[in-house]
Amino acid sequence: MNTTTVLEDEIAAAPAVQRCIEPSCGACYELAARLYVCARCGGLLDVVRDLAEKDHAGSVKGSDSVVKATGAALRKLWEERLASPDYRDRSGVWRYRELLPFDDETCVVSLMEGNTPIYDAPRSAGYCGLDRLKLKHQGCNPTGSFKDTGMTAAVTQALRLKVETVVCASTGNTSASLAAYAARADLKCAILVPHGQISHAKLAQSLDYGAAVLELDGNFDDAMRVIRELAEDESFYLVNSINPFRIEGQKTVAVEMLQQLAWEVPDHVVVPGGNLGNSAALGKGLLELYALGVIDRLPKLTVVQAAGAAPFAQMFAGGIPFGSPASANYDWSLEALQLRPIEHPQTLASAIKIGSPVSWKKARRAVIETGGRVLSVSEQEIADAKAIIGRDGIGCEPASATTIAGLKVLVAEGFVGAGENVVAVLTGHVMKDADYAINYHRGTLVSHSLAPDGSAEEQHLDSTFANPPARIKATRKAIVDQLARRAEDSSGQAGRGRPVLT
Ligand SMILES: [Zn+2]
Repeated sequence: MNTTTVLEDEIAAAPAVQRCIEPSCGACYELAARLYVCARCGGLLDVVRDLAEKDHAGSVKGSDSVVKATGAALRKLWEERLASPDYRDRSGVWRYRELLPFDDETCVVSLMEGNTPIYDAPRSAGYCGLDRLKLKHQGCNPTGSFKDTGMTAAVTQALRLKVETVVCASTGNTSASLAAYAARADLKCAILVPHGQISHAKLAQSLDYGAAVLELDGNFDDAMRVIRELAEDESFYLVNSINPFRIEGQKTVAVEMLQQLAWEVPDHVVVPGGNLGNSAALGKGLLELYALGVIDRLPKLTVVQAAGAAPFAQMFAGGIPFGSPASANYDWSLEALQLRPIEHPQTLASAIKIGSPVSWKKARRAVIETGGRVLSVSEQEIADAKAIIGRDGIGCEPASATTIAGLKVLVAEGFVGAGENVVAVLTGHVMKDADYAINYHRGTLVSHSLAPDGSAEEQHLDSTFANPPARIKATRKAIVDQLARRAEDSSGQAGRGRPVLT
């Protein structure tokens, strides 16, 4: 069997379309159709290619050997590209362009996104009760968050559509990413952010990249509502994760991760959950790799939310119906599992402070089809987990730390075995929210929640693993004495501010 021929024949013969995910509708639109939701029923759109949609058992031309050959050919092609100087191959997204709905002539808008490291994290592993743990750090993207992998595809699509102005509503990371890619593409860019609710670093990025920054009264969900109205105007192109091309770019994280693992499928992949585009994208990527024979089984995809902004976790609280892995017959309607938005989401992990996540149906599919879990963790658990990730020399923004906090719970419950292979996906760089880190280590981290009577309640979080700065005299003796005190503190493991390490 000539594997190259298999690839060319199968992939060329499977043109992509945008298709409504609602089973009662299923309307299809061409790739150049400029819309964000189904024009007929308002449902979310999915970019689908016939090839990737077929389930494993009845896959490409019904032959298992062809599936295996296709998978092997793709793995070989992507391995070869690691040494290629082609600018698309230098991007951790466009390297996998066989999975993307763009042809070879496309003018790609890239900042060499992706290419993010996957780290061993022994201290975080020990904290969770795992023998080993890997952290895939999407915060090492060009603008410091996972959003870049989707934005490169969405802004490339904006060029294909010849739009003038790209817009998004954002908790901060999306706006920073869009501002950068719009600048690269020389497109006008407007971003809507909830006033006073995004970190300074993210705001600073958007300003520096030259976007029009519009601070709105209200929260992220309000900004989302307004922007959907705005998108009805033809002169604006909306690139929030409701945009299916964002999901397409972002799904390549699954490919890069598997390639870094030498195509050995981990038992679990754990991600933070906010607007749920990330879980949706990772799930789609994994399911496509499985359908194409690139991997021969699926990891369980688990989503972790902050307790004050956990509508997705609440939806699953009654239990999860397990689907047949990678089936092409997924029931998008699932009457029993409907999301109830939260009106006033509260969490210091601002990147996931979202009460009405847009991509919940797609994320629901990813969790059910892979047999994962959805859970929520407290502000205290997030804060402590974040400090532990820092002690691995890695660090992340608060939202990313839900993964480690969640894993600690899942290991204790037995859903994740101590000896299993686990990858947690970190979504944002530690510098994205420096104030949070400083407040934690100084012992001044305060979270807010709404009391039943509607008043704000303050909760002072414990700085369990605090590492506060010390102000001392500018003398040699003062420095030596201070370091000696610190060594004494840490020597008994019970010392102030030192995590118990394995
Ligand atoms: Zn529809």
